[in-house]
Amino acid sequence: MKSQKLSKNEKVVLEVVKKSTGPIKAYTILSDVKKNGLKAPPQVYRALDKLIKKGKIHRIESKNAYLDCQNSKCKTSSKTAFSICQRCEKVTEILNTKLSKFLSSFKDDAGEEYLEYNLEFYGICKKCKS
Ligand SMILES: [Zn+2]
Ligand SMILES: [Zn+2]
Repeated sequence: MKSQKLSKNEKVVLEVVKKSTGPIKAYTILSDVKKNGLKAPPQVYRALDKLIKKGKIHRIESKNAYLDCQNSKCKTSSKTAFSICQRCEKVTEILNTKLSKFLSSFKDDAGEEYLEYNLEFYGICKKCKS
């Protein structure tokens, strides 16, 4: 999954998401990629969509923003979890082997499997605690 080739647009968009220090909104990405000739919003949204499918970035639903994948072990971009600090709003991809394993084979009591998750854990980050 991770070795999939990226198109030129996808590379440009991924660079911007990676450069950002936290989750980045689509309109911020848009204004940033304009100087690279990516002027049409649909091009950017398409690139974001593809990058999510290729496991390069994640969408933080509650923030309506994007974050580059920080977990080389995260197998599918649609099944991972994030912690969000209630004070500084720092978003981190949760690295936990048990949780990853649990999520990748999660079924509910009726045996139903799910294609996507948007798990967000709220708390106070290390930096804000100290
Ligand atoms: Zn990830
Ligand atoms: Zn914090």
